[in-house]
This record gives sequence, structure tokens and C-alpha cells, in this order.
Amino acid sequence: MKKVLFIIFILLCLFLCVFIKQEQNEEIKTIIKDNKNTLVAINYPKTKYKVLNKEIENYVKKIYQLFQVEYEDYKHLNGKAELNIDYEYQKIENKYLIIKLTTQMDAHDEDSPYKEMKTFSYSIPQKKIISLLDIVTNKDKIIKDIKKQAFYKYHVEDDSLFSLDKIKAYPFIIKDDILTLYIKYYQREFTYLVINVPLNIFEKEKTEPKRAVNQTQEKNVINPKEKVIALTFDDGPSKYTKEIISLLESYHINATFFVLGNKVSLYKDTLTKMIQNGNEIGNHSYNHKWMIKLDSKEMKWQIESTNKILQDELGYTPTSIRPTYGSVNQKLKDSTNLNIVLWNVDTLDWKIKDPKKIASRGLKVKDGNIILMHDVHRRTIKALQIMIPKLLEEGYQFVTIDELREVNLIRKKL
Ligand code: ZN
Repeated sequence: MKKVLFIIFILLCLFLCVFIKQEQNEEIKTIIKDNKNTLVAINYPKTKYKVLNKEIENYVKKIYQLFQVEYEDYKHLNGKAELNIDYEYQKIENKYLIIKLTTQMDAHDEDSPYKEMKTFSYSIPQKKIISLLDIVTNKDKIIKDIKKQAFYKYHVEDDSLFSLDKIKAYPFIIKDDILTLYIKYYQREFTYLVINVPLNIFEKEKTEPKRAVNQTQEKNVINPKEKVIALTFDDGPSKYTKEIISLLESYHINATFFVLGNKVSLYKDTLTKMIQNGNEIGNHSYNHKWMIKLDSKEMKWQIESTNKILQDELGYTPTSIRPTYGSVNQKLKDSTNLNIVLWNVDTLDWKIKDPKKIASRGLKVKDGNIILMHDVHRRTIKALQIMIPKLLEEGYQFVTIDELREVNLIRKKL
């Protein structure tokens, strides 16, 4: 009997270990789809906290279903209907976690896009979902400041907007001790009043000293007369990216990762390893908006903010951009000096579930081709495990996008 109890105890410990370990991982969930009538790009954090994750997931699910019902049969000359969900994430003094989701649904017709924001806030010590009013200590003063700014900035003087219940429900974010509140308001059409008020309740968050990463270790020698191939990955990084980097490392090969700016901070370690191993990083916009549908200003912002965060966090400057959904127009060409890079072979790993089928698509290649994959799925790793040894056997050299450009130049001269 004692033995049985002991075994149960050990099993329980093991179970708890695995369970706790799973709880530790923070990641960004990414869903990106190029469907018949719709384009979908959803990014949201999965935190260590179950209650919070459930709230966020339910909300995202609800929005996604709403979009599907609304636009499943959408047919329009201007193209597909688009759903974009992006996030902002703030951890304050290990006390609060604040996550703001911004949803945009856009049919790209005459109507202006549908925009909605929602904030989820969580108390880490209390282990529960809280509201803005649980965070601020000097409620009365804050509400007075909010009212004052609404009046001076927007000439809005409507007391019903500032009741405790209303304030509690507005989306917000807190950054550097400043509260930014978004009040949905009808003035000919729905807009958000953006109100900034100082909180003076937190110590300034300590910023980590920036460190520059040594650019690439020694390069493999590439023979331009032999066959070359470039593996590229979009939409990452994700929790699968590290494994892909290790897999590439085990074969002493490199690839190019077109990353989203909004994921750079959380996956800094992954990106550091990526660079140290000699891989290349490219720009894939900040939050995967359908770039060709943006005006020049926003298009530039998508590109430049991603470059800036790569520079600030990693000291890295990308040379290439892969436009979202592979769409290019003149405006995009005029908006950037980066090389615009598409692909020759689409593995469809975002859609096809079977790694063998993904791999067989990825193996239909020719010398000089660029292969498109996505480092946000486990099946992509499995497909790579099949593809890489076969391609090596066939005599391909794996190059990054910059190296491919060099090879093409040398070949032209020859
Ligand atoms: Zn993409």
C-alpha cells in the first residue's frame, strides 16, 4: 500500500512539474489566413495567467466569429475584407498586467473601417481580473483630469461620459506612469477621444540597457556556380522559432525570417540567437495590416516602426521587406528603400495540416528559388525535418536573401 501511495505521490509531482512549466511560457498567438474572400491577421499575448487568457481568448473568438458571419460571402471589386487584431502589452512593477486589443474590420469599400478596442487588466498578486479603478488610487482627481482634458482637447462636456461605470469600461493603457484612455464618442461618426493623464502612482519602470548584437558569425562559403535555395519564414517569431533555428543550426544552414514588429520585444532572446547563428531578419510590417490598402503615412509607419524596434532592441538593420499577403503596389515601392522580396514556392503551411504534403510542395524547387514558410506552426518544423536533408542531398546550398542577391549578381557578371 505504501509503495502505491509513493508512486502516486511521484506521479503527482511529475504532473505538477509539467503543469507548472507549461504555465511559465508567455507567447504571442498568431493566426494569419489568406482565405477566398477574407484576409485575417490576429496577434494576441498568451500570458502565464489562465483566467486572463480565457477572457482574452473568448473575446478574440467572439470577434472572429462576428467577422466570419459578416464577411464570409463578401465579394467586392476592391478585394477581400480584412480583419486585423493587434495588441499592446504592459507589465507594471510585477503588479499589473495590462493588455489592450485593437480590432479593425475593413471591407475597403465606401464605409470607414469598424474599429474597436478593449483592455484586459490583471492583478498579479491578487490573481484576478481588475478594472482601471482598481489600479488608480486617487480616483476623484483622475476623473477630474480626464473631464478637463476632454473639454480642452475635444470641447466635449458631457457628464454622462464620465460616470464610474463608464470609466471602468473604457479601453486604456498605462505607460511610463501616464494613463491613456480611449472614449468612444459620436461626433458625426464614431471616433475615439484619446485622453492622456499623469498618474503619479508608479515608480518609473527601469529600462534595460540596450545591447548591440554582433552581426553574424563566420559565414559559410557559398559557391555561386552550384545550386542555391533560400528558405524564408513569415509572421514570427513564435514559440516554434527557436526550434527551427536549432534545426537549421544542426545542418549548418541559414534562413531568412520576416518578422512582425509587434513581436520583437517578447521574443528578443529568440531573435538574438537567430542573428548570432548567421540567419537574416527581414521586415514583415508591424502588425500585419494589408499594406497596399494603407495610405502612404500609415504604410511608412508599418515599415519604419518595425525597423526601429529591431534597431533599438537588437541593433539590427534589415535590408529586405516581405509585404503582407504578398501584395505589392507602386505606393509600397515608393514608401521604402528596402528590397521587396516575394517567393517562388509557396508551401501553404498556413493551410495544409499534413507535414508530408507541406514538404512535398517545398521540394518542388529549382536553383535560385525562394521558399515561403511560416514559423508559427509546429507542422512547419516537421516539414523542414523532411525537406532539409533531401534538399542537401540534391546538392542545394541554403542561402539567406542577402546572399541570394549576391549570388545572382556574381552570376550575372560571370
Ligand atoms: Zn504574413
